[in-house]
Amino acid sequence: MRFRTSSVLTPLCLLAFSALALSLNAFVVSVHSAITADALAEFPLTSVSQSERDQMQRGSVAADLVEGALPITNGPYEARFHFDNDFKFSAVTANFLDLSKLIDTNLAKPHRDPWEFGKALHAIEDFYSHSNYVLLYRESVKKNGNDLVGSIPTFEEVLLQPAKYPEFLTLLHSDLHTGRYPNHSKFLPANDTDHGWPTGAGMHKDTLQRTLYADARQTALEAAAWYIRIYVRDKQALRDWTRLKTMKFGATTQGGATRVTH
Ligand SMILES: [Zn+2]
Repeated sequence: MRFRTSSVLTPLCLLAFSALALSLNAFVVSVHSAITADALAEFPLTSVSQSERDQMQRGSVAADLVEGALPITNGPYEARFHFDNDFKFSAVTANFLDLSKLIDTNLAKPHRDPWEFGKALHAIEDFYSHSNYVLLYRESVKKNGNDLVGSIPTFEEVLLQPAKYPEFLTLLHSDLHTGRYPNHSKFLPANDTDHGWPTGAGMHKDTLQRTLYADARQTALEAAAWYIRIYVRDKQALRDWTRLKTMKFGATTQGGATRVTH
């Protein structure tokens, strides 16, 4: 059977374009699925079944496929699923609060909905890739006079133990921001505050060749695992979850101290 050149090239071009598109605005699809799978690995099959794992992984990818504004699918774009659009600290906390509503709705369902929970995980994972969070943590360690950086604490850990991270919290309040998506120009090189193209300037750490990718991926994994503890109704995690919502994910704190309101 003979193919006309165009009939062969068109699908190939589409495939290449899709791959590029999928790498533009998030940890690439396979990375989200792998992070979620790695996070699930610490949970026994008795607490999260195989079919739940599969659905949760698919859900963690779906926020890109459905709400990622991919050119191929022409779907809607929802920045909150990706921690995009030049969010500052207060907008980040508001985004976490919006996510907490989705998560609480999920937890309240009579039957578990792992696909939806996976969509929430997508956002949690993207936060570490699409913001300067891991960079600021490294800066805070340097300010303490210790250049050796190991694991980076999750945002939730930092909020729950503010006395342990006073410098980092101060930096987060003053300097945290996420990348703007889409970039400021479709054609020009990205700015530092843009989400960024696959290479060059920009905030994202979606793929292996990006600066601090490994830091972002590992912290995203730890955060996803913590949220899955909520999903399996771990009692300590649920208590901490309530605390985080009460403090509005840091909106009620300033630097390392709780803001006193009168
Ligand atoms: Zn995303």
